[in-house]
Amino acid sequence: MTDKSPFLEFVDLQAQRARIGAEIDAAIGRVLAHGRFIMGPEVVELEEALCSYTGARRCITCSSGTDALLMVLLAWGIGPGDAVFVPTFTFAATAEVVALLGATPIFVDVDDSFNLDADRLEESLQDGWQQVTPKAIIAVDLFGIPAKWMRLREIAGKHRLHLIADAAQSLGAVMPEGRVGVLADATTTSFFPSKPLGCYGDGGAILTNNSSLAETLRSLRVHGQGSSKFDNVRIGLNGRLDTLQAAILLEKLKIFDDELNKRRSVANRYDSLLPGGVLLPAVREGVHPSWAQYTIRVMGRDRVKRALEDRGIPTAIYYAKPLHLQPAYRNYPRVSEELINSTQFASEVLSLPMHPYLSERDQDMVIAAVSDAVERE
Ligand SMILES: *Cc1c(COP(=O)(O)O)cnc(C)c1O
Repeated sequence: MTDKSPFLEFVDLQAQRARIGAEIDAAIGRVLAHGRFIMGPEVVELEEALCSYTGARRCITCSSGTDALLMVLLAWGIGPGDAVFVPTFTFAATAEVVALLGATPIFVDVDDSFNLDADRLEESLQDGWQQVTPKAIIAVDLFGIPAKWMRLREIAGKHRLHLIADAAQSLGAVMPEGRVGVLADATTTSFFPSKPLGCYGDGGAILTNNSSLAETLRSLRVHGQGSSKFDNVRIGLNGRLDTLQAAILLEKLKIFDDELNKRRSVANRYDSLLPGGVLLPAVREGVHPSWAQYTIRVMGRDRVKRALEDRGIPTAIYYAKPLHLQPAYRNYPRVSEELINSTQFASEVLSLPMHPYLSERDQDMVIAAVSDAVERE
């Protein structure tokens, strides 16, 4: 957000409130009336709704997208001596959970879809690793564009690795192979307010077809609880989703597909009208992203960003620095010395305003501003 009070929003949550604010307020009112703020009926209802929405057999809601990742790694017993492959071009949470457990994140470059480069991963697995034992892969559907899940499943199967989909940005995305939620051993997502399906605070969920994993996750979510509340069979955490957030999400889920279609119309228009001087997001045939972000690559990115700001158009840079160059992560291993694409993309990416309620007039303004800026480049 710029301080020049933009007349169009990067992510417009108020427009959604104008549409379903009354329904959400009523849902909140029902929770206030029944008073079951922790693990109330809306939590179970939301878990069932997310199973039928995604096709996954089990859904475990939780406190955030970060805790969702953490709980899956805990369930699999990942710890010191274990290695987990993660893309370097992602939000810190993807690698953070691995390091928090004392395991080793190994950074992998991304391909031009901004997602984990399966070829680089496969090469490094063939070379083998000393000192650490590869246990899992966390691939991200960055900006809502699904990674190459069939390929990743093949690699994970061949090398006996667990596969996690970090779908914090991609809930609702569809590929010919299926919806996000059924493509990995466990899929995690986030309900942070600005994600495609966001609540009014923090929240997350895990989707899986594995019922024994689901049972372990349900136990981890409440301090490693066993058959009774005072029975602790494993070390867990307080990882629950608030009933209030579940009630809000149930209302938002009703219009989610309509909102995704609106995001896709914006993306289609950007795709066809943005000028030749920018690189558009690369999406494989038959794939329908959730368009959490619409991110272009452009030369002279900082200047283009400023030119848009001067016209009151807010943009964002996801991500200005890949994780393997961040102070907290630079001493962890990588599959090769240089992670070339990620380092280059960090200097080129620019995310344009994207939300379901972005009018054609506003889209045209963004497109014109990018065209003018690129022409002057
Ligand atoms: C937002 C995000 C997360 C973390 O989700 P929180 O709910 O904020 O904890 C993890 N991974 C990616 C790729 C994200 O975008």
